[in-house]
Amino acid sequence: MREKLIEILNQAQKMEYLGNVASYIPELSHKNKNRMALALMDTKGNLTVAGEAKESFTLQSMSKIITLTRALMRYGEDFVFSRVGVESVDLPFNTLKSFTIKPNNPMINAGAMVISSLLVKESFETLLDYVCKLAGNPTIHLNEAVYKSEKSTSYRNPAIAYYLKDLKNITTDVEETLEYYYRQCSIELNVCDLANIAAVYANNGIHPVTKEPLIDLRSAEIVKTLMAVCGMYDESGNFLMRVGIPAKSGVSGGILAVVPGRYGIGVYGPGLDENGNSIAGAKMLELLSSEMKLNIFSY
Ligand code: GLU
Repeated sequence: MREKLIEILNQAQKMEYLGNVASYIPELSHKNKNRMALALMDTKGNLTVAGEAKESFTLQSMSKIITLTRALMRYGEDFVFSRVGVESVDLPFNTLKSFTIKPNNPMINAGAMVISSLLVKESFETLLDYVCKLAGNPTIHLNEAVYKSEKSTSYRNPAIAYYLKDLKNITTDVEETLEYYYRQCSIELNVCDLANIAAVYANNGIHPVTKEPLIDLRSAEIVKTLMAVCGMYDESGNFLMRVGIPAKSGVSGGILAVVPGRYGIGVYGPGLDENGNSIAGAKMLELLSSEMKLNIFSY
């Protein structure tokens, strides 16, 4: 298995020259494009890794599936989806255009901020502790520099949040909500952690190693569905057709992918395409899917 992953990583490494590291959050721009990694955990808890498995990066938009999970478990699907939609959009993640009162889905920033506003009262530490449990790693922490970098340079996210407040879909304090959102995006981890988290979703909410039940069945089902529908920005349909695995990407270059009942996968490569998806990461998932017959639409 490890040989297979190394081979896939080597193939992806040939794409190193493609894409750009995100720089609109200045602190993200220091990342080295040739640092790539791949980790796979099966639902029995066996982990296989290749590449720079210890290279750390921030969750960014991948955090949106975790906050959605918590909101679903706390408030239930009827309430959550009265505040945010479940349809894909053909617009960038930070769009201000696509919604009236209800953002299209929880994977664009507007929808994610509504979700953050539902959780803001339970404190960021509670969320961080939950991420540690999902990853089976108590050392996961906030990257203070990335957090400060986004907070001090973001004008669009405050614009979205204040607009939602005006529409009365954010009812909490806007600055507190933004603070929570920047922090959730700045949680730092590596591909092994991503594979662990993804494996919990693959295993219907139970951590394959610690055996701790962390997500109820229905919430895990919904989150995987939305990963498939809109997890890869406005390239979600194309990605699903090519790879056939529900996945969520972040502008840090990480992608978390879930093969239900089989594997949790984490990939990393900071060179991004124009939509914000890791080019090498998507390639690794494509190769992995065809090599190991992981397309959920085939059997
Ligand atoms: N913190 C980032 C932002 O709001 C997350 C973007 C992403 O990963 O899609 O701009």
